[in-house]
Amino acid sequence: MAEMELVIKNARIEDEKPLVDIGVSEGKIAEIGSGLRGKNTIDVKGDVVVPTFIESHIHLDKALLERVKPNVEGTLAGAIKITGELKKGFQYDEVLKRSIQVMDMLVAHGTTVVRAHPDTDPLGGLTGFKVMLELKKRYKGVVDLQVVAFPQEGIIKLPGAFEIIEEAMELGADVVGGCPYNENNYEDTKKHIDKMFDLAKKYNKDLDFHADFGDNPDDLRYRSIDYTIEKTEREGFQGRVTVGHMTSLSSIEPELLADTIKRMAHARINIVPLPATDMYLSGRGDKNRVRRGVINPKPFIAGGVNVAFSSNNIRNAFTPFGRGDLLMIGSLFEHAAQLGSISDQKLLLDMITKNAAKLQGIDKTYGLQKGKNADFNVLGTKLLSDVFLDVPVRKYVVKRGKIVYKSELVETRNW
Ligand SMILES: [Zn+2]
Repeated sequence: MAEMELVIKNARIEDEKPLVDIGVSEGKIAEIGSGLRGKNTIDVKGDVVVPTFIESHIHLDKALLERVKPNVEGTLAGAIKITGELKKGFQYDEVLKRSIQVMDMLVAHGTTVVRAHPDTDPLGGLTGFKVMLELKKRYKGVVDLQVVAFPQEGIIKLPGAFEIIEEAMELGADVVGGCPYNENNYEDTKKHIDKMFDLAKKYNKDLDFHADFGDNPDDLRYRSIDYTIEKTEREGFQGRVTVGHMTSLSSIEPELLADTIKRMAHARINIVPLPATDMYLSGRGDKNRVRRGVINPKPFIAGGVNVAFSSNNIRNAFTPFGRGDLLMIGSLFEHAAQLGSISDQKLLLDMITKNAAKLQGIDKTYGLQKGKNADFNVLGTKLLSDVFLDVPVRKYVVKRGKIVYKSELVETRNW
């Protein structure tokens, strides 16, 4: 067999099977087998190798603002208000600097595919959106970045909001966003969804909504999933619609939840719970029995719904925590959603790899298989089922066959 550019020897890619060698040539996985030879060979001695992680939903433009202005009351309304005020003063260079800080955190934690939702509205204009376009160029070959035109402030209630989203579509947005809960009444929520579907059809792009992000599913602005399912089916957008948050589904009656899951699976709607934000902002009005606001993904997955999870916000008014590390978010998620078994560990890993790839429409080129892009992480642990338990060091992050990040844990044990 021909010598390959890079060979990772003795990789653990499945817990129940023998270790393998992974051979890389021309940015692709050329072979997975044994006894492979390469110009550059790294023996990882049984370390876990997984595809690089995918952030399906993150806000780079408004990250790292917690120290500038914290959200003292801790509510969603407070977070939107504070960020709205800050956003009016956004300067391109400053937004770029903070966004780069987060992108670098992501890569160092093994994430090389990102879907970003920059606020694209009359308060901040196109500043955040244009920064994302710049990042696409700067991180070419390191991070594949999809940009969503995201109307955080609503569409119907704010004059000029729709026009800015349309301008972003003209400038090359990859995905049409939506924030249908942020309208004055349910009729406007439905109009918001209609208008975003119109744009998605016009530009032939997928849709990604922030929705059902509230504690009270009786307020229909926070139960727009029903209308979204209806619209998806009617417009023939099955498989092309993603919804983030879904916190209100964590507190609806079981029968209603089961029915909603069935309809979501039929419309092939993807969902992305955002555990850090969902837990931080949920249940703020509850005086006792405070709701966690995080869905359990298992009934959704069992019912045939594609589920990923993501970081959403890093250190701002929506979520004052985070370091751009999906393994840390997964660890939080498994505590909050009571995911404790070995099979749950696999489920979590699927959510930030293959499920997220399906959501972003990149599953043909993504994954640890011959012929696919050589995008993978070598992790400092020996079993895939330990990944969220250990939150291990990311030893190597490989993108298109190149080592883009390397880290070593140096331990000295003096006992
Ligand atoms: Zn979000």
